[in-house]
Amino acid sequence: MRFASGARKYKSVVRFATPSLSLTARIIYGQPDARDKVIVITDQQAMKFLEELTNCFGPSGFEREPAKIVKSYVSRFSDRIYSDKLGSLLFEKRGTADSPVVLVPGHIDEVGFIVSHVNKLGFMSFNTLGGWFDQVLLGQRVIVRTEKGLVPGVIAAKPPHLLPAEERSKVVVKDKMFIDIGASNEEEAKAMGVRVGNPVIPDSHFSIMQKRVFKDGKKKGSDTIAIGKAFDDRIGTWMAAEAVRILVEKKIKHPNRVVGAATTMEEVGLRGARTTAYVVKPDVCLTLEVDIAGDVPGIEAHESSSKMGYGPSLTTYDTSMVPNQGLVELILKTADKSKIPIQLSQVKGGSDAGVIHIANAGCPSVVLSVPTRHIHSHVGLLSMNDAENCIRLLVEVVKRLDKKTVDGLTAI
Ligand SMILES: [Zn+2]
Repeated sequence: MRFASGARKYKSVVRFATPSLSLTARIIYGQPDARDKVIVITDQQAMKFLEELTNCFGPSGFEREPAKIVKSYVSRFSDRIYSDKLGSLLFEKRGTADSPVVLVPGHIDEVGFIVSHVNKLGFMSFNTLGGWFDQVLLGQRVIVRTEKGLVPGVIAAKPPHLLPAEERSKVVVKDKMFIDIGASNEEEAKAMGVRVGNPVIPDSHFSIMQKRVFKDGKKKGSDTIAIGKAFDDRIGTWMAAEAVRILVEKKIKHPNRVVGAATTMEEVGLRGARTTAYVVKPDVCLTLEVDIAGDVPGIEAHESSSKMGYGPSLTTYDTSMVPNQGLVELILKTADKSKIPIQLSQVKGGSDAGVIHIANAGCPSVVLSVPTRHIHSHVGLLSMNDAENCIRLLVEVVKRLDKKTVDGLTAI
């Protein structure tokens, strides 16, 4: 947890403190050029919401805090807010018709950890909540939530100086790591409130930076890069909320009922999506997600073709779903007509749509994503231009989803 004072004087137990929002839209590098096109959709209010949402504490199974943040934000403009019994939050906006029901989910859980053992020396073993690559864990700061408050810690292992030479080049596996909270024995750890079952998240804060964009050697405006944790998939929830807000504030007509959803426990098996689909009974689903940006060293184009800053991506296949082809075509045509950039992608992984599309009698579904670098780690990077274009595309598609069009998606 970063403190407002900037001083890192941790008490033995750090009481919960709301992340500082004074740093909203904090620019850590560069300034936008006044001549460049500035962000149109994303205002200060939206950026503050994104900062608060991504900074907050909410690994899979512990999503109460992000759910409350979403609830407080969407309550200003939603027609109805309700939830399922796994903690997913639903917010509705009625258009000119009560149906079809268009579900727009983004999951609010983040990948994290859960304490599995506190040893005699006061160090903790842990299990993962969601998928983690062992190599990104070592040396990272974490925050343990206890009944007494938040406790900062670091993931550590036996130092390389003490390892035999042949072991130094090997990957240290998670089971050889531990969380160090500065305790010297079990009693001290317990006095801090630590116990088996405590949730743990990466200690990582949201920030943004402005950059000039160059494509094919030419200057092409500017972009805002967001840097932080939990973009998978709070950027999805954020886009769902912003899309509904825009429909309301800009008084955009749409021939359906839109249900935005902040779903829970996606990272541990698409669980909140299952109960959400049961409660909402959607006629069509536009899932919002992050895609693995393939524009980093070591990734071949055929492994992941989407790039940060080149528009939202449409998943044409993942291991949990083959999307509805009528919906794929509708999205591509809409993007083309509205001059919104879009990338085609395939993902080795699943999303909430994986269970929503086979819920009830089935539901034509598709996944729209923001290509994000370094997901499932302490820090990801994404382009706010991509997020905005994803919202624009979503709004344009929602405008076209009337009963006839939606019925046509599954007509034989
Ligand atoms: Zn994920």
